[in-house]
Amino acid sequence: MKFANVRGEVRLNEPLSSHTSFRIGGPADALVVPADREDLITLIAEIREQGVPYVVLGGGTNLLVRDGGFRGVVISLQQMSAIKVDREYRSLGGSFVLLHAEAGAALGRLLSISVERGLTGLEFVTGIPGTVGGAICMNAGTAQGEIGDVVDTVTLLAPSGEPVLRHRDEMGFGYRTANVPPGHIVLDAKVILRHGDAEKIKAQVKRLMEQRKARQPWGLPNAGSVFKNPMDEAAGKLIEEAGLKGRAAGGAMVSDMHANFIVNTGNAKAADVLALMEAIREKVLEMHRIRLEPEIKIIGED
Ligand SMILES: Cc1cc2nc3c(=O)[nH]c(=O)nc-3n(C[C@H](O)[C@H](O)[C@H](O)COP(=O)(O)OP(=O)(O)OC[C@H]3O[C@@H](n4cnc5c(N)ncnc54)[C@H](O)[C@@H]3O)c2cc1C
Repeated sequence: MKFANVRGEVRLNEPLSSHTSFRIGGPADALVVPADREDLITLIAEIREQGVPYVVLGGGTNLLVRDGGFRGVVISLQQMSAIKVDREYRSLGGSFVLLHAEAGAALGRLLSISVERGLTGLEFVTGIPGTVGGAICMNAGTAQGEIGDVVDTVTLLAPSGEPVLRHRDEMGFGYRTANVPPGHIVLDAKVILRHGDAEKIKAQVKRLMEQRKARQPWGLPNAGSVFKNPMDEAAGKLIEEAGLKGRAAGGAMVSDMHANFIVNTGNAKAADVLALMEAIREKVLEMHRIRLEPEIKIIGED
């Protein structure tokens, strides 16, 4: 694998366990961090020439990488993380700001900037880790809202190396899903936020953070909710009712605190997490006649 004209960092045989919130995952043949957008376009052209598979890594907070790692190139956009004000305007509904965020920016930083400027609309992302690019792909959110609600436009990089501008209604945002076709890379997004009461916004963020701390496991590596909520049911409730809290497979365990979280209690392998996921799906199907679908993305080989 050659990256003759890439200016950014190239790490060969890079363990992906260091790049996922689960702290699990075998090595990538190469992990490349393009220096900027132009460098990413060069990288994609070189990858295409060599016919090598590639995948984008955001914060790795919704990702399970199998133990054999990823044969191909893992691309990190961590050098593409600028956030700036794109435009301000007034309309009947109030005074609005369009924030432009590159895909590698941390979602938490986007929230902090909004809060500092007294902008409302993003409070629901409080405590959701990862990047803007990952949040767009997953349409990250909570019962209070999802990122697709505040998106104006998204720029994708097509596998041909051409940037494509998509409006919100072309993004196919749904429950933890968006229309980012295979091989496409989210480059940036613009979100529309409204000027609000700064003190109320801060108080809401604080309240949501406290709620999260009380409900979710802290301290042990995890990847957030493992399964999607099926229709009107909470996956965590179904798993808890199936008596699976605390169930372990190797180093992976169903959290005692929130049954839809699997935690890495030490040296969990991806195989442990996958075995536990299978056991959960079987038990929930048997008890509730409901087939759980994974929310986390699974990549790589055994
Ligand atoms: C403690 C904890 C709490 C969480 N709480 C929530 C929650 O409340 N709500 C929620 O929705 N999620 C939650 N999550 C899950 C996760 O944080 C979100 O899904 C997040 O948006 C993933 O972002 P990421 O950058 O880490 O993406 P990654 O995990 O790195 O990637 C996710 C997917 O997006 C793709 N991807 C990432 N960036 C790009 C890009 N630029 N272009 C193309 N593809 C890309 C990846 O290839 C992968 O398929 C939680 C996770 C943890 C660990």
